[in-house]
Amino acid sequence: MTDAITLTGWQHTYSGKVRDLYVPDGSEQGRTLAERFGDVVLVVASDRVSAYDHVLEPAIPGKGTVLTQLSLWWFEQLADLVPNHVVSTDVPAEVAGRAMVCRRLQMFPVECVARGYLAGSGLAEYRTSGSVTGIELPPGLVDGSRLPEPIFTPATKADLGDHDENVPFSTVVETVGADAAATLRDLTLAVYARAEAIARERGVVLADTKLEFGTDPTTGAVTLGDEVLTPDSSRFWPADEWRPGTAQPSFDKQFVRDWLTSASSGWDRAGDVPPPPLPADVVERTRDRYLEAYERLTGSALAV
Ligand code: ATP
Ligand code: MG
Repeated sequence: MTDAITLTGWQHTYSGKVRDLYVPDGSEQGRTLAERFGDVVLVVASDRVSAYDHVLEPAIPGKGTVLTQLSLWWFEQLADLVPNHVVSTDVPAEVAGRAMVCRRLQMFPVECVARGYLAGSGLAEYRTSGSVTGIELPPGLVDGSRLPEPIFTPATKADLGDHDENVPFSTVVETVGADAAATLRDLTLAVYARAEAIARERGVVLADTKLEFGTDPTTGAVTLGDEVLTPDSSRFWPADEWRPGTAQPSFDKQFVRDWLTSASSGWDRAGDVPPPPLPADVVERTRDRYLEAYERLTGSALAV
C-alpha cells in the first residue's frame, strides 16, 4: 500500500496510512544529513486519505501540504507550552512543503485525546455507559454537546488496520508510569485549551483532538510529535453551524464518509470488499474543505 518515493540520502523506514518516515541512510549524503541534523526522522505527509480504516483511491491533491503546513503553524502557537519535534523544513525538493525533519522521539504508545465536545467514539461510549474512558459525564448530553470541562480520554494505538481503543487513565499509568501519564494528560489538556481558544476566535469549534508525544533522547523532555491539530487528527466544526443533537458538519473527510456510506457508492462497510474509487467531485470538495480549514485557522491562504 505504500507509495513512498526514493529520496537521496534518506532511507524509507515506515509507512502509516498517511505518512511515510525516513532516516538518513549510510550514503555520503545520508552521513551529511546526520551530521547536520542529528538523530532525525523525515516525516512526509502524503496526499493519501483514509476513512473507515481503508486508504482510499485516488489521493486528495494538496492534502499532505495542508497537514504539514497546519501542523507547523500550530507547533509555533504552542511553542511556549510544550517542546516539539520540528528540527528543519529544509527537505528534499520532491517533498517540499509536505515534509519536516524531526527529532527522532521514543514515542509513548498512547493516543492522547482531549475532548471538549461529545462526538465519535466518545459519544458512542457515553451512550452505553454514561461515561467516557471512565470519566462520568452528566446525563442528557447529545451528539455535539459541549462538555462541562475538557476531558483527557486516552486510547491505545492500534496496529495498521485495527481500531484504536479508548482506555481509562489507569491503563496509561500502567503503560508509561504515573509521572509520565500525568504529564501526558496535563500537556494534552493545556494544548487543547490553547488551541480551542485560538480556533474559537476564528469561528471554528475544536471538538476534540488527538496528540502523540515522545521522549527526546537527548534532553529526556516529553515532546510533542507527529502532526498536530489537523483535520485528520481533530474534529473542527464551523461555529455558526454548531447544533447539538445532530451530527455536525466538519472540516475534514465528511464528504468522503458521506459518499462511502451513501447508496450511490454501492459499498458495504460491514463487508470485506475495499471501497470503490472516489468520484472526482468528492475529491475536489474534500480538497477544498482541507484548504478552508487551513485558511480559517491561520488566516492566510495556502498555494498548493
Ligand atoms: P495509522 O495508519 O493508523 O495512521 P500511524 O499513526 O502509525 O498509523 P502515520 O500517522 O501515517 O501512521 O505515521 C506516522 C508515524 O510516525 C506514527 O507511527 C507516529 O507515531 C510516528 N512519529 C511521529 N513523529 C515521530 C517522531 N518525532 N519520532 C518517531 N516517530 C514519530
Ligand atoms: Mg498517525
